[in-house]
Amino acid sequence: MKQARKNVKEAKNNTAEETVVETKAERLLRLYRERQSGPTQFFGEAPPLDADTLWRGLTRGGEVRVLVVRATATVREAAARLECSPDVAQLLGELMVSTLLVRSTLNPEERMQVAFKHDGAVGQLLVDAWDEGGVRALARNPGVTLEADGLLLGAGLCEVTRSRHSGKRAYRSAVRLDGEGVDAAMMRYLLESEQILSLLRLHVKADANGVTQAQGFLVQLMPDGTRDNLVSMIQNLEALPPLGQGMTPGDPDARVWTSDLLKGFAWDQCAREPVMFQCRCSEDRILSMIATLPKAEIRDLAHGDELLETVCDYCRTRYLLRPSQVAALLDDPS
Ligand SMILES: [Zn+2]
Repeated sequence: MKQARKNVKEAKNNTAEETVVETKAERLLRLYRERQSGPTQFFGEAPPLDADTLWRGLTRGGEVRVLVVRATATVREAAARLECSPDVAQLLGELMVSTLLVRSTLNPEERMQVAFKHDGAVGQLLVDAWDEGGVRALARNPGVTLEADGLLLGAGLCEVTRSRHSGKRAYRSAVRLDGEGVDAAMMRYLLESEQILSLLRLHVKADANGVTQAQGFLVQLMPDGTRDNLVSMIQNLEALPPLGQGMTPGDPDARVWTSDLLKGFAWDQCAREPVMFQCRCSEDRILSMIATLPKAEIRDLAHGDELLETVCDYCRTRYLLRPSQVAALLDDPS
C-alpha cells in the first residue's frame, strides 16, 4: 500500500514535469537546434562595393571571431592628402587597415593609435582610429620609394596606445619591429600584448594614380577555441583566392568567401561599423596647442598683423589665424 502510494506520487510528479517543465525545456532545445543548424544570419544589407565598411562575425560555438574590412576610399584619401608615393601608400594603407581591424576588437568606445618608430626610409608612421569609425594617418617621409631610398620599414618599435574619450588612463604597450611586414608586427602585438592568437591578412595596392585596393581580414581565436580551429581555417584559406576577389558587386561583404574560410563552422555576421577618413583637427584645437607654448613665444606669434598659417600634418588642412586670436590666449586665465 505504502509502495503503491509512492508510485502514484511519482507518477503525478512526472506528469506535472512533462506538461510544464519538459515542454519548456524541449522548446528551448528545439530553438537552440534550429539556430545551430539554420543558415548564417547576416547583419542587414551589405553596403555597395564602392563604400568602405567593416563587419564582424562569430562562430556559433564561440571558437573564432572574424573581421573583414574594405577601406579603399579611406586609404586613397589619406595617401592623396599626404602625397604618398605608391610604395608609402601601400605601407601606410596596410597600417590603416590593420589598425581599423584591431581597434574593432576592443571595447567599443576605445580609440587606438599605432606608431611605427623605426630606422627605415619612410620614418615614423602613425595611425589614429576612433570609436565612430574615423581613421587618419601620417608618414614622416611620404615621398620615398623602395627603388630610390631602399628599405622603407626598418627595425624599431611598434607602439600601441589605447584610450577612452575621457583621455584618462591611456594604456600603452610596445612590441619590437624587426623589418618584417605590417601584418607580422600586428599579429605579434596581438599575441604579446593582448594574448590573442590571430591571423591577419592585408591586401593594399597603389600605383601612380593612387590607392586601388585596401582590404583585410582578421581571424582571432576566442577563449572557447582551440589551436586546431585556427589551423583548419588556415588550411581553408589555402584553397581561397585573395579576399578582394571574394568582394563582388553581388556580394560586396564577401559573405560566400568568408563562409569558405569558416568551412566546418556554423557562424553569424553580428556587427558592422562605418569606416571613413577623418581628421579631428580644428581652429580651436590649433589654438589650444599654441596655448601650451611658453608665453614669450605666444607673444611673438601674436605680434604684427600678418595672418599666421598652420597646416595640419595629417589632413593638410590650412588654417589662417589672426594675431588677435593668438593674443587672446594671453588674456585667457586658463
Ligand atoms: Zn587635420
